[in-house]
Amino acid sequence: MSTEGTAFHKGEKILLKDASVGIMTHAMHYGTAVFEGIRGNWNSDKKEMVIFRLNEHYERLLRGANILRMNLPYTAEDLSNITVDLVKTNGYQEDVYIRPLAYKSQELVANLKLHELDDDISIIVVPFGAYIDNDKPINCQTSSWRRPEDTMMPTGVKLSGLYTTSILAKTEAVAANFDEAILLNHDGTVSEGSGENLFMIKNGEIITPTETDNCLLGITRDSIISIAENELGIKVKERQIHRSELYLADEVFLTGTAAHVTSVGSLDNRNIGNGQIGKITKSLQELYFSIVIGDEKKSKKENYSSWLTSFKI
Ligand code: PMP
Repeated sequence: MSTEGTAFHKGEKILLKDASVGIMTHAMHYGTAVFEGIRGNWNSDKKEMVIFRLNEHYERLLRGANILRMNLPYTAEDLSNITVDLVKTNGYQEDVYIRPLAYKSQELVANLKLHELDDDISIIVVPFGAYIDNDKPINCQTSSWRRPEDTMMPTGVKLSGLYTTSILAKTEAVAANFDEAILLNHDGTVSEGSGENLFMIKNGEIITPTETDNCLLGITRDSIISIAENELGIKVKERQIHRSELYLADEVFLTGTAAHVTSVGSLDNRNIGNGQIGKITKSLQELYFSIVIGDEKKSKKENYSSWLTSFKI
């Protein structure tokens, strides 16, 4: 990855290549950090950058920072303003991924406490195309790794330490020639993908695991719940899902900032539905893509402009 570009680091904008931390940094040893993944979508018609649900991402980051007992001198609004300025400084006229990381920055490793440690936040912006090709369905594997329970580590926020499990699961799936992993909870019910929430469709009903099924409280998940209700008139049901319900579903799709809305064509070598992108998934994909890019040409029942932070580069 290129180290050109500008980062926000230790309270100022500096060259990304100079934004580094020392080997003694607490977060590097213990995963005592919380991060976000935010997308800026480039609208080439309007020549505008459109950042999706910026404030909500920072609200979630600050909820995680609070759990890690961090004292950061910024509100969600401050961080949103810093981000817009940083994206303008970087000047990319293409899709970007914005990665804020709030971390225990003190260079003190022999300390297994959250308090009496300094905190800091860095933000980087990198060009970012498709994470997963959304035009075709992907093949998933039920992971042998389980999603940590909230009794082990808070699961509703993006704690860095949690991602070791996601990475073990994704690595296992890709090494076995699948595209993505689906993680179950300890009791065998469905939680989510390695970096995405999961939805299932059966007989016209859209179902997703609940907050207490240890999934991340995804911003795309929340957006899809609203879009399904507002635009398709389908109220999403939040409930526990059994593994075999996925095999029997008409459609399954994953949602995430990086993955957008991705259809799951097969799970553990069994086709879901006819193995193609399902009708409801397709409509939600189209609606979601037009909303995140600020495209008003496709008519929608609701106005989603409050989700968008748009500006010229
Ligand atoms: N679950 C996990 C484990 C994730 O890493 C992500 C990506 N942030 C998601 C779900 C989807 O969350 P969001 O829609 O907020 O990107």
